[in-house]
Amino acid sequence: MTSERDRRRELRDAYKAGVKRDEWDVLGIGREQLDDLLAHLEEKLGETGCDHSLRHSRDWADSRGEPWSELEQGLQASGGGCDCEVLANVDPDEQL
Ligand SMILES: [Zn+2]
Repeated sequence: MTSERDRRRELRDAYKAGVKRDEWDVLGIGREQLDDLLAHLEEKLGETGCDHSLRHSRDWADSRGEPWSELEQGLQASGGGCDCEVLANVDPDEQL
């Protein structure tokens, strides 16, 4: 039997899962790719710092064969206006 409280929790979880899925849709890449990108940025920013562009993200996209214009839009829409912001802000799983 399902209590009112259980039902509300189910609705809330479904809502959260939907929001999360939307954020990943906006980003355009999946968990494994994002982890790979963030590891790449961590390494590159550790060497040279951020020059307030997305050049390291772009290098990553080029080397992985990801379409850059789509990824660029997804990153910017997710709070990543430059490489260090991508590292700091872009993680749909962390925002919940
Ligand atoms: Zn930056």
